[in-house]
Amino acid sequence: MSKADLSVGFDIAAQLRWAANEITDSAAQSDSAILDSKLLLAYCLNCEQSYLHTWPEKILTEGQIQQFHSLVAQRMAGHPIAHLVGYRDFWTLRLQVSNATLIPRPETELLVESALALALVPQAKVLDLGTGTGAIALSLAFEKPEWQITGIDKSHDAVTLARSNAVLNKLDAVSFRQSDWFSQLDAQLFDLIVSNPPYVEQHSPYLQQGDVRFEPLSALTSGDDGLDDIRFIIAQAKPYLNDGAYLILEHGYQQDVQVRSIFESNAYVEIQSIADFNGLPRISMAKFYQK
Ligand code: GLN
Repeated sequence: MSKADLSVGFDIAAQLRWAANEITDSAAQSDSAILDSKLLLAYCLNCEQSYLHTWPEKILTEGQIQQFHSLVAQRMAGHPIAHLVGYRDFWTLRLQVSNATLIPRPETELLVESALALALVPQAKVLDLGTGTGAIALSLAFEKPEWQITGIDKSHDAVTLARSNAVLNKLDAVSFRQSDWFSQLDAQLFDLIVSNPPYVEQHSPYLQQGDVRFEPLSALTSGDDGLDDIRFIIAQAKPYLNDGAYLILEHGYQQDVQVRSIFESNAYVEIQSIADFNGLPRISMAKFYQK
């Protein structure tokens, strides 16, 4: 703790106030400094956030304060909270994260919801392309234990991470494999293919700001207009789609028109985009029929 900070009390409430101020004033560009502080302190104390509210006057040990301050300093330098505490909650699951993959985002829950709303056969075969932490595949498995779900990722580390998340969440029926999109997949037909592929424009200034600076570019960007992988997936998925099967993709909120037109030029039908709570179209889906 620096000299100036010696005036800060050593109790939970004072430490949280101190940290929230530090993070707000820093270059982290966090819009959730209070929540960030609570997540970090709860991690140091190995407790739930509710404990911090119940015991605001509890005095921290020197070791706890040191660990907390070191994490706050890393947060101030921009490191994502999920990397500092090692996990991110997504859907009903707690998922380990690492710098090999994208940190699961709340907006991707819209993709999970859209997939769950489909009327599929009870033992539907489902493929998650670029599964990362396994967030989408595992959430679907949690809700639909009978679905036969495969997640692929081109990163070996991501596959290891997803497998470990499957075990931690007792969802080990999901099969994870290393494959660069479809390259290592045998010929087979799925009832549903889902993906949150990289879709940020290669030169987007967004990539220089905030938490994304600490995530792998390969999970974020895809060519000049961000649509290279989406074009590839829509075209290459066709031989893997059962008659009338669905492909659902997450994309940027200004990419919906282009994504629908890529679906259209690949002869998909019933093409639609779905908006999130803010009215932003972040998901598009379509059906494919093998004529
Ligand atoms: N939605 C992510 C973001 O805005 C981008 C993730 C992606 O490219 N799939 O950071």
